[in-house]
Amino acid sequence: MNAIYCRVSTDLQAEIGYSIGDQIRTCHEHAAKLGLETSSSSEYIDDGYSGEYLERPALDRLRDDLHNKKIKNVIVYDPDRLSRNLTNQLLLADEIEKLNTKLYFVTGSYDASPEGRLFFSIRGAISAFEKAKIRERTLRGKRAKARSGKMIQKSRAYGYDWDDENSTYIVHQAEAAVVQMIYDLYLSKKVTIKDIAIFLRQQNITNQRDKPFTLSMIYRILTDEKYAGTKWSFNKYEKKISQYKRKKISRPQEDWIPIPITPIVTIDQFQKVRQILTENKRKSPRNTKHEYLLRNFLKCSVCGYSLSAHSKKHSSGKEYTWYKCNSGGSDKSLVPCGNPAISSLEIDEVVWKHLCTIIKNNKEQLLLVPQNSTASNAGQIKSIKNHQSELQKKQTTILRWFSEGMLTSNDAEKELNHLKKELQTLSESLIKLSSNPKSTAKIHPEEFFAAKSFIERRAIIEKLGWKFYIDHRVAPIKIRFKV
Ligand SMILES: [Zn+2]
Repeated sequence: MNAIYCRVSTDLQAEIGYSIGDQIRTCHEHAAKLGLETSSSSEYIDDGYSGEYLERPALDRLRDDLHNKKIKNVIVYDPDRLSRNLTNQLLLADEIEKLNTKLYFVTGSYDASPEGRLFFSIRGAISAFEKAKIRERTLRGKRAKARSGKMIQKSRAYGYDWDDENSTYIVHQAEAAVVQMIYDLYLSKKVTIKDIAIFLRQQNITNQRDKPFTLSMIYRILTDEKYAGTKWSFNKYEKKISQYKRKKISRPQEDWIPIPITPIVTIDQFQKVRQILTENKRKSPRNTKHEYLLRNFLKCSVCGYSLSAHSKKHSSGKEYTWYKCNSGGSDKSLVPCGNPAISSLEIDEVVWKHLCTIIKNNKEQLLLVPQNSTASNAGQIKSIKNHQSELQKKQTTILRWFSEGMLTSNDAEKELNHLKKELQTLSESLIKLSSNPKSTAKIHPEEFFAAKSFIERRAIIEKLGWKFYIDHRVAPIKIRFKV
């Protein structure tokens, strides 16, 4: 039997000129030209499958039938139909040939000669190039959409509902009222963001996920220009910074495209808030001239808020430094949790001594910083292992091609080196992920006891990263810590 394989992906934009009907017709015609008999039972059709992966129902069926020696000739429109990826194209072509089946392309001749391979490589390169072109075209399309005042993709923002028909936001009245209230509070009452958070909590006002507003959410609402009627798009792009991590990077401002949306607050309000925020930032530079050993690492046992560091110069010239639970806010009308302010010198000393005792009694175990548990990494480990075996398969394929003279030693070496590097990175991350927590000691007890100066001790506190929960409503101070 002779087989015809056709594929079209769902990404229609990418597939212009490749309709399934056209492919089937031209394949039958090509078969007739070659004197090969075909019928509708020859057709293997993957309609709506990406060429990125090899798992496709019709392709699976075709490969099964190939292995069962049912097929003499395979006709495909062009190599892209087999796969978008050169390695997979070669892999499939190789598999087909090994089973003494002939592979024909409508768009060009192909054989296992070096020229045939070259043809394949060129096809693969062109297909990659076309993909890049499509990406560029799509990007241009997206920019045009943004310039016409439409949002590029569906999104959800507090204060708005999504209007699918016009690709834009429409005001969600109840949430918009909260946004307005946040701006009003910040502008009229001269309260802090923290105070607003506490106020919203007291009023039982929650966000769209029914959770209390965090300080950063309120900060975002106060600083996001969409609430004043301008949603910026193309202001950031995503960059792959490692195998698994992506980072948002700002674009130069001249590339930003403003999309007008219905404002919730006035431009005047928005600008006033921005002005106050920048002024506050300028007025309260991070206080680094004082030595707070535990800055950013103290928490209130009573309410769970962080303790922040403060200082004041007395008229006598003496400086006072202390930590204070943030629950009270700067507005005295809000109810603090009852944990009083505490001298930083006192608590720094107490906590350090406490740490010394813990370490003396428990020795190493406590200084080990446990990594994420292996169980929670299971998914990541599995995907790395899958990737690993894929690469290993590639390795053997390349070796086979090389041994069969289909690849020059230069090319094979280049490919193999590349694979080796990738495999190395993978096994390194695998070790990191599944490592025994005991191997991740960050601080040795000796290092700990040797630390005498503020700088040495602060470095250890930062390295440890523990949070110290303090309750000092009654003496003696109670300390818990969270690793
Ligand atoms: Zn508190």
